Amino acid sequence: MLSDECIFCQIIRGERPSRKVYETETIYAFHDINPQAPTHILIVPKKHIARLADITPEDAPLLGEMMVAAKTIAEQEGVSSGFRLVINSGREAGQSVFHVHLHLLGGRRMRWPPG
Ligand code: 5GP
Ligand code: ZN
Repeated sequence: MLSDECIFCQIIRGERPSRKVYETETIYAFHDINPQAPTHILIVPKKHIARLADITPEDAPLLGEMMVAAKTIAEQEGVSSGFRLVINSGREAGQSVFHVHLHLLGGRRMRWPPG
């Protein structure tokens, strides 16, 4: 998919509304439109990469920044005592938006294994 048509690229460019919680030069984070927990934030690299399966070694610093963002946002949102990070890669894994994103879930008891 071209980044022109990608809904997360549109959100990052401000062409589609979102409830932003955090932004840096490389990352944009906002509330999920269909939350699966009291806190459900999507942490998205500004660079369009379709799936985690498509990353290259050059993306390693960016992925590290996403983790640091997750920690910072968890503190900001008051869930740092317990939260879960999820990346779905590929349709079989439940990925529905093909622009890499990290789900930050918190504010309720999490079960294991996930569905
Ligand atoms: P995936 O299923 O690809 O791992 O996650 C995609 C997530 O994006 C879903 O949790 C879905 O609710 C969320 N989502 C899809 N479209 C939009 C949108 O337009 N705005 C926001 N804020 N979230 C969206
Ligand atoms: Zn995109």
